Amino acid sequence: MAPAFDVPACSVCRAPAVVSQAYSGQNLCAHHLDRSVRKKVGRELRKQLTIDGPTTVLVAISGGKDSAVLLSMLVDLIGNRPDVRIVAGCVDEGIEGYRPPSIEAAAQLCEMLDVEFITTSFAEQDFLAMDEVTASLDAILDKHPEAPRLPCSYCGVFRRQGINALADMVEADVVALGHNLDDMAQTVLMNLTAGEVERSRRLAPHTERPAEGLAPRIVPLRLIPEQEVHLVSMHRGLPIHNEVCPNAEGALRWRMRDVVATLEEDRPGTRHGLVRTLDAIRAMTPAEGDAAEPVGACERCGSASSRAVCKACEMRDLVNIK
Ligand code: SF4
Ligand SMILES: [Zn+2]
Ligand SMILES: [Zn+2]
Repeated sequence: MAPAFDVPACSVCRAPAVVSQAYSGQNLCAHHLDRSVRKKVGRELRKQLTIDGPTTVLVAISGGKDSAVLLSMLVDLIGNRPDVRIVAGCVDEGIEGYRPPSIEAAAQLCEMLDVEFITTSFAEQDFLAMDEVTASLDAILDKHPEAPRLPCSYCGVFRRQGINALADMVEADVVALGHNLDDMAQTVLMNLTAGEVERSRRLAPHTERPAEGLAPRIVPLRLIPEQEVHLVSMHRGLPIHNEVCPNAEGALRWRMRDVVATLEEDRPGTRHGLVRTLDAIRAMTPAEGDAAEPVGACERCGSASSRAVCKACEMRDLVNIK
């Protein structure tokens, strides 16, 4: 009997495909998609991470699919090595309704994969919880008209500091982040449309230009499309929390998602093209004497910073209006 609708066959084994990669012309079943993603992640990992001696990798996880797939792949690829310690860490931003269930998913994931799990929160880092920042945003802007208008601007800076604190807790040599191909393409486009070439150059991976005083960031999923990460997370049965943060919608990134998705549909390969643009920009600029960020120490909190008072301390002042 003819199938009710035409499911393309896997280019490798002829089983029903779960994904058609317009950018590569391949169709893949769940099993072969998983294998292909694992191979690509392994290749990126070898490029981004040199293990020569005992190495602690802090994997920043959020309870979402990207970091779950990243952690699961890293456990597969390097988890058995005696010289590698993998620790997963999650930062609680203090967003009611969104963060508690995702921390729960993150904890379940670590239990399933038998990975050490640590957490910190904005409150523990002496920042206001995001719910409080959001609630007082009008008052913050009244007092400081120059302050950022979107919650994500605060959240991003505080979370970065939280991840640094987690890395310090376990003396991490490297921090792995779950950015996928779509995230990377959106970021490149956002930076380029704002004329922020310098900022693009400072993006992870920091293999070539680590910033002094900070564990370098690696992004092994940088060439894996979001949809494929999602399919792999389902195929592997990873516990994940799928909700989107309530603050996400107003952010520029949210609009860039649509832009990048539309461009990719019109011209498959656009996302890879944007990432290649980034790599080309980085290759054109000398690595020597040009760290990911010039670094000294913040005179207030002591954390690595390119300025006298770090961005996190500056933002902490902005939101503490009482
Ligand atoms: S969407 Fe914005 S506020 Fe929500 S977790 Fe992400 S950066 Fe933070
Ligand atoms: Zn197959
Ligand atoms: Zn500081």
